[in-house]
Amino acid sequence: MSSVYEKYDLKPVINASGRMTILGVSTPEHEVVEAVNFGLDHYFEVKDLVNKTGAYIARLLDVEDAVVVSCASAGIAQSVAAMIVRGDPYRLEQLHAHPHQVPSEIVLAKGHNVNFGAPVGTMINLGGGKLVEAGYANECSPAQLTAAITPNTAAILYIKSHHCVQKSMLSVAEAVDVAQAHQLPLIVDAAAEEDLQLYYRLGADLVIYSGAKAIEGPTSGLVLGKHQYVEWVKQQSNGIGRAMKVGKEGILGLTHAIERYLAREKESGAAMVAKMTPFIEQLNQLPGVSASVIWDSAGRDIARTDIAFDHARLPMNTTQLVQRLQGGNPAIYCRGYKANEGHIEIDVRSVSAAQLDQIHTAIAHLVQETR
Ligand SMILES: *Cc1c(COP(=O)(O)O)cnc(C)c1O
Repeated sequence: MSSVYEKYDLKPVINASGRMTILGVSTPEHEVVEAVNFGLDHYFEVKDLVNKTGAYIARLLDVEDAVVVSCASAGIAQSVAAMIVRGDPYRLEQLHAHPHQVPSEIVLAKGHNVNFGAPVGTMINLGGGKLVEAGYANECSPAQLTAAITPNTAAILYIKSHHCVQKSMLSVAEAVDVAQAHQLPLIVDAAAEEDLQLYYRLGADLVIYSGAKAIEGPTSGLVLGKHQYVEWVKQQSNGIGRAMKVGKEGILGLTHAIERYLAREKESGAAMVAKMTPFIEQLNQLPGVSASVIWDSAGRDIARTDIAFDHARLPMNTTQLVQRLQGGNPAIYCRGYKANEGHIEIDVRSVSAAQLDQIHTAIAHLVQETR
């Protein structure tokens, strides 16, 4: 199917940036693709499919209940709506028609009010909630989170992500304590996280994952948690959920991907280091370039290649270099968050040894270009 690139005049991509939505996130393994295909090829009683795959996932993860949704963003919006509607049929159908006399504020640490590609606040608003920030840009303690709670609070939302401010930030366990002390549900957005049980076990009421990130499923999302809350999320399929419907193929694909994810041996950080070592050695022979291993800032067992560029010795700055790599053919996408400081990172998980050679060649070309 390489002709697809030709047919639509698309550029091939080397994804050295990790699980990025702008590149299509991940490429599920063959077995998962087969589950997707089976879903496309057959009819089901969809309610039954939703309930029984959810129960199956819940057993796999040893949680009360679960439901497959269309993506993590949809999971946030529907979880918020669930905490406002709480099973009421009128509110379900009239969520946005007019204000309701029930709590609708969603309390979030200010440092968690991030843009993950779309703003968290937009998902809260989609779910009929009003975002209330707690604490400051650089800190939120349990007391500061508590101070933002009022009789209008519907739920607390915690975003577990490298996108968030990490310093002086209360932990998930501390947020659980605050939520329980005020008898409020705690929703944890763990979209890109790898542990599918940790936050539930800590006491979160609903936990949301993105299906195509760590799990490497099809485009989809997972919401798991306490039975009653998951039921209320499912009920949103007759409300806002209809505008973010997941198909039978996504449900079967993610369910199988979760089973595979739990069974498969994860590529270790040490294996990533072994893979990138020849690449690092090659890069270090280039003028103005120094490469080394860097470990994931969020503490996951992921090693990446950090490449530092000495601007004084190079024909372009790092931001320009990132753009030139993306503009090449194939397009090479690296992690460019720190380009303004003269660094890029290469995530090798979806990159073959041959592609690492291509990346090296492209960088060598650019840094040796004459001014
Ligand atoms: C990726 C991400 C999302 C959105 O996930 P989708 O499945 O693409 O909707 C939400 N929150 C965080 C923290 C993310 O990293």
